[in-house]
Amino acid sequence: CPQVQRALLALTLPLETLQVVKDRMLQAMRQGLSRQTHAQANVRMLPTYICSTPNGTEKGDYLVVELCQSHVRTLWVTLLGDGNQSPQVMFKTFNMPVDITQGKGEMLFDFIAQCVRQFLAGLGSPQHRLPLGFVFPFSCKQTGLNKAELISWSKGFSCSDVEGKDVVQLLQSAINKQELNHVHVIALMNNTVGTMMTCSMGEKPCEVALIMDTGTNSCFMAEAHQVEMAEETSGRMCVNTEWGCFGDDGALSDILTPYDQHVDQESSNPGQKRFEKLVGGQYLGEIVRHALTALAVEKVLFIGSNITVLRSKDVLKTQQVLEIINNEEGREKAREALVALGLQPSERDCCRVQQICRVVVSRAAALCAAGLAAILSHMCQSRELEQLVVNVGVDGHLYRSHARFGEILQSVTGLLAPQCTVTLTPSADGTGRGAAIVMAVATRLAAQRREVDQLLAPLRLSRTDLQRVQALMRREMELGLGRETNANASVRMLPTYVCGTPDGTERGEFLALDLGGTNFRVLVVHVAEDGIHMSSEIYVIPTAIMQGTGEALFNHIIECIMDFQLKQDLMEQVLPLGFTFSFPCQQLGLDKAVLLSWTKGFSASDCVGEDVVQLLREAAQRKQHLGLKVVAVVNDTVGTMMSCGYDDPKCEIGLIVGTGTNACYMEEMRNVGTVEGDQGRMCINMEWGAFGDNGCLDDIFTIFDQLVDEKTINAGKQRFEKLISGMYLGEIVRHILLSLVEKQLLFCGKPCPKLQTRDIFQTKFLSTIEIDGLALRQVQAILQDLELQASFEDSMLVREVCQTVSLRAAQLCAAGLAAVVEKMRENRGLAQLAVTVGVDGTLYKMHPRFSQHLQQTLQDLAPNCSVTFLQSEDGSGKGAALVAAVACRGAEP
Ligand code: ADP
Ligand code: MG
Repeated sequence: CPQVQRALLALTLPLETLQVVKDRMLQAMRQGLSRQTHAQANVRMLPTYICSTPNGTEKGDYLVVELCQSHVRTLWVTLLGDGNQSPQVMFKTFNMPVDITQGKGEMLFDFIAQCVRQFLAGLGSPQHRLPLGFVFPFSCKQTGLNKAELISWSKGFSCSDVEGKDVVQLLQSAINKQELNHVHVIALMNNTVGTMMTCSMGEKPCEVALIMDTGTNSCFMAEAHQVEMAEETSGRMCVNTEWGCFGDDGALSDILTPYDQHVDQESSNPGQKRFEKLVGGQYLGEIVRHALTALAVEKVLFIGSNITVLRSKDVLKTQQVLEIINNEEGREKAREALVALGLQPSERDCCRVQQICRVVVSRAAALCAAGLAAILSHMCQSRELEQLVVNVGVDGHLYRSHARFGEILQSVTGLLAPQCTVTLTPSADGTGRGAAIVMAVATRLAAQRREVDQLLAPLRLSRTDLQRVQALMRREMELGLGRETNANASVRMLPTYVCGTPDGTERGEFLALDLGGTNFRVLVVHVAEDGIHMSSEIYVIPTAIMQGTGEALFNHIIECIMDFQLKQDLMEQVLPLGFTFSFPCQQLGLDKAVLLSWTKGFSASDCVGEDVVQLLREAAQRKQHLGLKVVAVVNDTVGTMMSCGYDDPKCEIGLIVGTGTNACYMEEMRNVGTVEGDQGRMCINMEWGAFGDNGCLDDIFTIFDQLVDEKTINAGKQRFEKLISGMYLGEIVRHILLSLVEKQLLFCGKPCPKLQTRDIFQTKFLSTIEIDGLALRQVQAILQDLELQASFEDSMLVREVCQTVSLRAAQLCAAGLAAVVEKMRENRGLAQLAVTVGVDGTLYKMHPRFSQHLQQTLQDLAPNCSVTFLQSEDGSGKGAALVAAVACRGAEP
C-alpha cells in the first residue's frame, strides 16, 4: 500500500540524515557552551558545578528530596565507601495535590519541607548535621553547586514567585521554618546528573547520562575551560545539555513529518522542545495517533469504522505503543488497543499499526543516538583523543520498557561515532542514589581542597614576602660589597676584574672551556668582523671524577682539551684560553681565581682555597701539554653578560637559571670595597645562590625545602639556589607528591615505591606538565613512566604542584633581580633605568611559564626599571672568548 509506505518512509531516518542531525546537534552544543552565543542557544549546556565523578570511596549519610511530576520523594541514603556497590536507601513518597504545582511558590516549598520533616520523624528525627540534596528537574541557571536560579517552569508547573529566584534558598528557608535547622541544602541537581553519578561503578567513572522518559535530556563531563558560562578553567565540569530544545530554531524542520507538526501544534508549548517532541515518551503515542488519523482519512486504515475518536488528544498512550511493538503478542495488543477505542481493525490494520509504532519508536531511539554521538564526538575532540572509551548511564521509563530501544541506541551510536566505544549502563534509582553521591563527592573534594591548600600554602608567596626577599637581598649585597663585611656575607659579591662589556672591535681565535654545569665543553671561538664562529665538543665528567680528587679532575680536563685539539687539528697552535668556571671564586686578577667552595654536585678534593688556573697549569705540566695559555677565568654569568653585550650594549646583567642559579652585574667601582680604585665599573659575580645561608630566608623555607637540602652534598649551603634552579625543583615536587600521597590526597593514597627514589622526578617534567593546553592524558603518560597510576584528578593535582613550585622559583628569582636593578638605578641617580639582562640556562629557556612569571614579578617589584631579557646563545663559551679577547687587546701594545 503506497500510502502506508509513504508514512513509514517519512518516519524513517536514513543514516546520512542522522549524520546531519548529529552535526547540527554538535553545532548547537558549541553555541550553548560559548559565552558569546549562549544567550541565543537552544541547547543551553548549563553548568552544574559538579566537577568530579565518584571514585568509590564516598561514604556517609545523605538526605535527598526529589520533586517529581505529581509527588515528592524523600530518601535517606547511606554510602559505605565500597565503590557504591550497595548503598542503603530508605525512601518515602508523598503525593502532591495538583493545586500546589500551580499555586504560590511558597506553598510548594513549604510542602516539600513538610515532607522532609515527616520523613525524618519516621526515622526518629536524627539531630546531627544532615546534608540535603535537592533533585529539581527544571532548567536552572546554576552558579554553584548550591546556587541555582530557576529559568522557567515546565512539565505543567507554574508556581508564582519562583522563576528567577534561587530555589536552594527557597527550600532552605522553608526547611528552617519547619525548625529543621540541622538540615543543610548543599547541592541542587538535575535528574540526568544523578544518573551519571550512580552509573560510576567502582573506579570506572561514568561520564555521560541520558534520560529517556516522558521527556529527554542528557549530561556529560566537559572540559571546564570550554564551559565558558562557568568561571572554572581547569579540570572538568558536568554540563546539563537541556537538549530537549534542540531544533527550536528550525534545525530539525527538514526531518519533521506532518504528524510531528500536529503534535507540536496541539501541545501546550508549540514551537518549543522540538527534539523532545520526537523522542520523549510523552509524545510517541501522539505521533502514532496522528499518523493513524492521516492514514484513516486516506481510507487505508480502519475502513468502515468511525474514526472521530482518533481526533481526541492522548487517546493512544505511549505505553500502548510500547506494548504493541514489544512482544510476540504485539499484534494482539494492537487489536485490543484499537478495539478499546471503538475501532474495528482488520488483521492488516493491526499489522500496519504495529509497523507505524515500530518506526516511531525506532526513530526516537536513532535520534537519541545522534545526540549521544554528538556528545561523544565533542568529548573526543576536546580531550584530543583518537579513541574514547566511555560509560554512558541511561535511565527512563522509555529506555527500560523496550529492549529494542537500547539496541538501536547502541548500534546507531556506533555508526555515527565509530571512534568511541560505548558501554550503556542502566541506572537503578539514579536520582536518589546519584544525588547522595553528588553530595559525597562534593564533600570529599571540599575537604581535600582544604588539605591541599593547607599543604601548599607555605609555598605560595605574597607580594609582601617577595618585597621582603628583595630588601634582604639588597642588604646582603651591601654586606658583600663592604670591605669589612665581605668576609661574612652570604652573598659574596665577588669582583671579576671584567671592567667593560665588548665594544665590537675584538678579534682573534681563542680556546674556551666551560666547566660548572651539566656538561663540560671545550670550544674554539673565532671572533671576526662578520661575527663569532665556533665549534665545540661536549665531554662527560663522571660523578666519580666530580667527587674524587682535584688532581684527577684537572687531569681529566687536560685530556679532554688534548682530545679536542687533536680533533680540531689545533695541536700546533698556542691559542689564548678563556676558562668559564662557574663556581664561587675569589678572583685576584683576570687569570687568578681561588675556589671558595664547590656547588652543584661537585666536591673534588684539594681544590678549595687553590687558584684554579694554577691547578689547570699544573695538570697541563703533568700531561706534558705545553701549549696552554690561560688568559682569563670567568664565571658563566659573566660569560653570558659578555656574549649578550656583544649584541646589545645595554646588557649589563648576566643571569643563569640552569642546574644552578647566579647573577652578575656592572657595579660602580666606588661601591666595591674589596678592590682598590674608584673609577669606572666592574662586573660583580654575586654568587647569589648562597643567599639565605646565614638564616635570613629561614621563614621562606618549607619542610619540603628542608628535606631536599638535607639530602644534598652541600646541606645548609646554596639555600636560595635550592629554591630556584633545575637541580632542585623536581626534587621539591617529588617531596610534595610524597606528602600528598601520605595524606591520602593523591593516587588514592597508594604507596608509590618509585617515587621514593631521589631525582626520579626530573625538572624537565615540570616543563612538560605545565605546557598550556597539554591534554591531561599526557601528564598521565609521564606519571605512568614512573609507575604511577594517575586519575584525571591526580593529574590535575600534580600539575598544580608543579605550577606552585615553578611559580615560586620564578618569583624569588625576580625578587633577587629587583634588588639588582634598583641598586643600579640608584647608583646612577636615575629616575628610570633601562637595562638588558643576558640570560642562560635550560630551565629559563625551556620552561613554558618561568620567564613570563619572572618578568611580570620583576616589573611589579621594580616598577621604575624597564628590563629587557635577552637569551644568550652559547654564552659561556662565547663569553669566555670575548673576555680573553678584551684581555689580549689590553695586553698587546
Ligand atoms: P648548566 O646550568 O649546567 O650549564 P643547563 O643550563 O643546560 O646547564 O641546565 C641544565 C639543567 O636544566 C638540568 O640540570 C635540569 O635540571 C634542567 N632542565 C633540563 N631540561 C629541562 C627542561 N626541559 N625544562 C626545565 N628544566 C630543564
Ligand atoms: Mg650553563
